[in-house]
Amino acid sequence: MKNRRSGEKNRMHLCLPALSVNEGVARSAVAVFCAQMDIGVTQLADIKCAVSEAVTNCIVHAYKHSAGMIYITVTLYEGGIRVIVKDKGCGIADVKKAREPLYTTDAENERSGMGFTVMENFMDRLAVRSRPGKGTVVIMSKRISAFPEKE
Ligand code: ATP
Ligand code: MG
Repeated sequence: MKNRRSGEKNRMHLCLPALSVNEGVARSAVAVFCAQMDIGVTQLADIKCAVSEAVTNCIVHAYKHSAGMIYITVTLYEGGIRVIVKDKGCGIADVKKAREPLYTTDAENERSGMGFTVMENFMDRLAVRSRPGKGTVVIMSKRISAFPEKE
């Protein structure tokens, strides 16, 4: 494949409509793809949680008033993984504020404002880029230890 970053082992692109059923689909698909790495169940569970939060945000926030697609890219590297979750929904006006623990614009639906905090804690790196009216890109990466944890 052309333009592969060095160390890249494999890559998956997934494109799903923003339906609530697809939160589970995305979570499971990413887990199956990552399972080809030498990865422990705890690390896999962390990745599934983070993906679940990012995809749920696309469904409940980005496309709250519209229909649209969620674009997920998973890249496996020597020693780590990167997951990108992108939408073309409403976007976020203040990303710094949105990333604060307990900040939510949807308290009436009993959202707790902890999604970004979960992503940050369960992954090693989180970057969020957003443009109001254009959409949001969430980039998460995690180091995968060479040997699975003993569990
Ligand atoms: P929880 O995830 O705990 O159910 P939450 O979704 O409100 O609650 P976060 O996931 O931390 O909490 O997101 C914080 C806020 O950022 C959201 O309330 C929403 O306003 C905004 N947001 C997050 N992701 C997106 C997105 N993809 N598009 C538009 N707005 C978003
Ligand atoms: Mg959320």
